[in-house]
Amino acid sequence: MNARPKKSFGQHFLHEKRYIDRIVGAIAPRDGDTLVEIGPGEGALTLPLLAVSRRLTAIELDTDLIPALAERASRVGELRIVHADVLKVDFAALARELGARCLRIAGNLPYYISSPILFHCVEHAAAIQDMHFMLQKEVVDRMAAEPGSKVYGRLSVMLQLACRVTPLFDVPPGAFRPPPKVDSSVVRLVPLSSQERHDADPAIVHAVVKAAFAQRRKTLANGLRQLLDAEGIRIAGIDPGARAETLAPLDFVRLAKVLQARSTPK
Ligand code: SAM
Repeated sequence: MNARPKKSFGQHFLHEKRYIDRIVGAIAPRDGDTLVEIGPGEGALTLPLLAVSRRLTAIELDTDLIPALAERASRVGELRIVHADVLKVDFAALARELGARCLRIAGNLPYYISSPILFHCVEHAAAIQDMHFMLQKEVVDRMAAEPGSKVYGRLSVMLQLACRVTPLFDVPPGAFRPPPKVDSSVVRLVPLSSQERHDADPAIVHAVVKAAFAQRRKTLANGLRQLLDAEGIRIAGIDPGARAETLAPLDFVRLAKVLQARSTPK
């Protein structure tokens, strides 16, 4: 196919077979899975996934790529191509439409919107069984970082509160056409079960995490000043002199719960 890759769509097409095989091996698709691919492009992952799963739904924004992909896929399995911006796709509604309880999502993501896509998927985590994504290595490092690490931050906390995050392997720039300027990594995300998920208001957790990391070097007492006083931070069992980067993800949930209790009318 070899379409001219479009920078504006974040197109870097994977061409090295050994990495394609490793990604497909990590996903381990089975006949009957409800697979959804974000950004199929020219089909580097789509066609081998389709060969096993027989059916796949792919969400692609670039209309120019769709006819050739549909043509190639028709010889392999049942490919349904949704022409849409993935950020506008309601995965819960898509799962219902496909008659599935949960979706298995995969994709070599367009890097220019990788964080919004991750947050969008996390919002729909209840409709997702697992996700396998190719991302910038630096983003995967942040997603999986532990408290105390230099790269631990908002992305680490928000993702780890919703999913188990497992970095799988790195992929060099030369595996893509054109090569991106950065190294890439493949990561697996498995949404936590309803018993494992926290029960605080997600909007309040988000507000606390955002404020706490807005100025990483500040103490929590300073960073959270607009939301909680030092007494409130202590009630959550946390030292107001601590910095956000030392807190475990569930510490932010405890802070959010204190804030939630204070803002709920008695
Ligand atoms: N999966 C192919 C591969 O591995 O060679 C292409 C990966 S390329 C990095 C990203 C793909 O996402 C492109 O096909 C691009 O057109 C598509 N894309 C970009 N923005 C998108 C969006 N908002 N919604 C859906 N697809 C998008």
